[in-house]
Amino acid sequence: PNTETEKSVNSVCPFCGVGCQLEYRVKDEQILYVEGRQGPANEGRLCVKGRFGFDYIHHPHRLTKPLIRLPNLPKGLNVDPANPLTHFREASWQEALEVAAQGLNRLKSLYGGESVSGLGSAKCSNEEAYLFQKLIRQGFGHNNVDHCTRLCHASSVAALMENIGSGAVTATFNEIENADVAILIGCNPTENHPVAATFFKQFARRGGKLIVMDPRGTAMKRFASHMLQFSPGADVALLNAMMHVIVEENLQDQHYIDKHTENWMAQKQHLQRFSPEAMAPLCGIAPAQIRDAARTFARGKAGMIFWGMGVSQHVHGTDNARCLISLALMCGHVGRPGTGLHPLRGQNNVQGASDAGLIPMFLPDYQSVAEEHAREAAESLWGDGVKLSADKGLTVVEMMDAIHSDDIRGMVIMGENPAMSDPDVAHARAALARLDHLVVQDIFLTETACFADVIFPAAAFPEKTGTVTNTNRQVQMGRKAVESPGEAKEDWLILTELADHLGLNWQYGSVETVFTEMKRLMPSLDNISWQRLESEDAVTYPCHGEELPGESVVFADSFPRSGGRARFSPADLVPPDEVPDNEFPYIMTTGRQLEHWHTGSMTRRSRVLDAIEPTANCSLNPVTLKRLGINAGENIKLVSRRGEIVMQARADTGVAENMVFVPFAYVEAAANLLTNSALDPYGKIPEFKFAAVRLEVA
Ligand code: SF4
Repeated sequence: PNTETEKSVNSVCPFCGVGCQLEYRVKDEQILYVEGRQGPANEGRLCVKGRFGFDYIHHPHRLTKPLIRLPNLPKGLNVDPANPLTHFREASWQEALEVAAQGLNRLKSLYGGESVSGLGSAKCSNEEAYLFQKLIRQGFGHNNVDHCTRLCHASSVAALMENIGSGAVTATFNEIENADVAILIGCNPTENHPVAATFFKQFARRGGKLIVMDPRGTAMKRFASHMLQFSPGADVALLNAMMHVIVEENLQDQHYIDKHTENWMAQKQHLQRFSPEAMAPLCGIAPAQIRDAARTFARGKAGMIFWGMGVSQHVHGTDNARCLISLALMCGHVGRPGTGLHPLRGQNNVQGASDAGLIPMFLPDYQSVAEEHAREAAESLWGDGVKLSADKGLTVVEMMDAIHSDDIRGMVIMGENPAMSDPDVAHARAALARLDHLVVQDIFLTETACFADVIFPAAAFPEKTGTVTNTNRQVQMGRKAVESPGEAKEDWLILTELADHLGLNWQYGSVETVFTEMKRLMPSLDNISWQRLESEDAVTYPCHGEELPGESVVFADSFPRSGGRARFSPADLVPPDEVPDNEFPYIMTTGRQLEHWHTGSMTRRSRVLDAIEPTANCSLNPVTLKRLGINAGENIKLVSRRGEIVMQARADTGVAENMVFVPFAYVEAAANLLTNSALDPYGKIPEFKFAAVRLEVA
């Protein structure tokens, strides 16, 4: 009831990349409830996380004072987040900042700047992402700075940058309203992008052809005109077979191909050996089904392709995305209303954090670190004799390896939780324990913070103001609704104070001044001012005028590549890194569940969400359960070459008989103890979607 609240604050949901606008209703510095607003992405809708996942900010586990590790205690997960004082002591901000900066500067002088790396977060604002990459690049003279985009869509971005010249979506997901055919592949939007899923369902209800392609039968199957439940890892085989049909039956849009693309003849020739009949055994899909899906997509007047981490998290993730780009291009399904390529971004600000340069190969706005003019632009803006490195930095998983080889000895981690989110996480935890000096800023004593030497208590999303950019390229204003508990501070403020103690001459009076500086390196934000965002809440980039809302669909006339043409990149078959064998006969795939977000640090501390889904669980086909002699609801043990976990087994007919699906939110049964850290060679993304495991009665 509105009468109970003292104020309402308009902001953005802190969870997924859909970026739903919402309204916090507040009384006595407590958020009482949340309502959806008419944002461009959500049109008033919210999912269960947006609606009920807010009270984590009031949880008693919140960090409220800076902490410094007590001496001579082994580093590990053996710290109770309810009682960190068994392993840490409270400190003043001044002391904690001094200890953090002295430790980092000592490593820099002993081993060089490259001995200190940084992991930022897609949970922070654009301004915070910008400042974090600046801190590492300016403060330590290298590009070893990354964030969870590496574990999410790095391979998609690699393929998009290569072939269309831009890593962002070519059309908002709402454009599906103008489409008559759409492919959903390797994504589970009803769980992971629930409000986007409502638009997909409406599309199907009004007669749009929805082609769902996934090794796991998800809820979208019920809305599909075509369901292709293909064998795990067979994406390239299936997509090449569809493209083979399009060429064989001359269904391609030759006018579009001739006008807007290059390398078509190589692609056409490459596809010859991928007939549906040849690929069917690999895909587990009948040739007739492949042909039908290919014809439906190619004959559509306006088609879109949406994909998720089922596509990207493979050692052939970039090849998978290359195929999707080729499929859209050959059908002319880019650059018009109702057409487009849309990798559904995961975190609420993974698009914005990447745009802001929180990645090891690009400065803000995807300016390569190797480009002298790009470095000079940042150097002259950042001043003070700044000299930036021209060498690409290390990615998330590479950083953990570099710790084990003593090339990295110190880290700053802002809001990221690699002790849960990295593949082969025992390896990552051992790396974190090995660091000489780890500085963490976060809202809880996360699994990663357990390994820290200094911990800064940070403000949660509803406790700060800043901009975030959703999967649709919509830059939106997140606003402070309540004060932070205790001495917790906004991440951008912590970064400026740490920079000060590191000897950097930063002068920011407000988060707005950070945004204004950031814009000077980011032409993509032209015509999007802080004042505009304050009054309009959201503007889509690119935006060609201060009165215009921004472009929903891009690349109508040309692509941002030299010559203005998109490129076909033929992709070959690459097997998964670790195939099942007699010892490990099942395929494990990981992902999220509707109620829990990523490593669970927020949603497992949200009363309603944790009440709905309190138990670590995995999903198996009932046939598999019967074969193993396990009843649904009983515990099962999963063993891979890297570790083992025990969790509740659930029956799910959507999971193939040779597979098990495991959510990665549960620390008591951490899925990533089992996953494989093998990387895609282009995007450097790990193969979370395919690991060989053994299943046993627990
Ligand atoms: Fe939040 Fe995503 Fe749900 Fe929207 S769909 S309310 S952004 S979690």
